[in-house]
Amino acid sequence: MKTIKEMGEFGLIDRIKARFEPPEGTLGIGDDCAVLPSVPDDTLVTTDMLVEDIHFLRSDITPEDLGWKSAAVNLSDIAAMGGEPTGTFLSIALPVDLEVEWAERFIDGYAAISRLCNVPLLGGDTTASERAITVSVTALGACPHRTALLRSSAEVGDLICVTGTLGDSGAGLKAILSSVSRTEDVKKLIERHYRPTPRIAEGIALRLSGAVHAMMDISDGIASDIRHIMSSSGVGADIDLSLLPMSRELLTVCEAEGWDAAEIAAAAGEDYELLFTVDPDRQSEIKVPHTVIGRVNASGKLAWLKGGLPAMFSKKGFTHF
Ligand code: ADP
Ligand code: MG
Repeated sequence: MKTIKEMGEFGLIDRIKARFEPPEGTLGIGDDCAVLPSVPDDTLVTTDMLVEDIHFLRSDITPEDLGWKSAAVNLSDIAAMGGEPTGTFLSIALPVDLEVEWAERFIDGYAAISRLCNVPLLGGDTTASERAITVSVTALGACPHRTALLRSSAEVGDLICVTGTLGDSGAGLKAILSSVSRTEDVKKLIERHYRPTPRIAEGIALRLSGAVHAMMDISDGIASDIRHIMSSSGVGADIDLSLLPMSRELLTVCEAEGWDAAEIAAAAGEDYELLFTVDPDRQSEIKVPHTVIGRVNASGKLAWLKGGLPAMFSKKGFTHF
């Protein structure tokens, strides 16, 4: 009998998708948010769950950070469509012997990110659990009718771009798991892992530019996420590893620990930056700071380059042919 692990997360989602047809004009499974059509604004909906020992370790993350992150990862999916968040719903399953103080501090973190993004909490659900803390957030957003930036709109010749720097969060996680000493640089990386900033203003500005074709947020790492744009747009991509934007903190810590910074930047997840494709003739119209990391082509395949030359990407790092 095939296990869920053998089928994989995306295999299972495909099976679910095959059973349900969204109504005409509604975008269902397959993008960062569902898009429910209405005038003047479409409604965006997204939901994400964080499970103890799968997504976080209770012994390491503070309750404030968990509260922040559980809302932030959902707000990032609203940002990924170029949307404005309008509300969130918070569902929590908590072990009954958990201290009340933990819950209060969790709410403090949730309130802080809600304030930062100017988005109200509108409801949720609360229940007991046997052991694990589970947090599920649903976020709602708005975006003028038919203007949401989808994963499926990349065009051959587009430049592939990202906001911010890549790999900080992944290196932060690696530092947490391998107990490296917490220098100021390591602390900054861990902060990016636990307190991601949804790129809401950037997403809206990118939508308003009119020059962006496809967009998504980076939750699994570009090596995995670009494949979603490729498959839904029916295109291929070249990405140059030497162009990946990396922070000084990432480079310093990777140097000290002997980690491959480019591998972390390409393959580790949870950056929650925006990955988008843009018309090459209109890139100069984009005022949001960004880095070009590659180009969309018609091959249907993902090819890695390093300094313009073909490179092999493996978990062990990059080797030239
Ligand atoms: P993201 O990383 O942007 O949150 P996911 O990779 O979690 O996106 O999900 C990809 C798509 O699959 C989304 O459109 C999401 O709504 C959908 N999806 C994920 N799990 C399920 C599920 N159990 N049932 C229906 N749709 C799902
Ligand atoms: Mg997403």
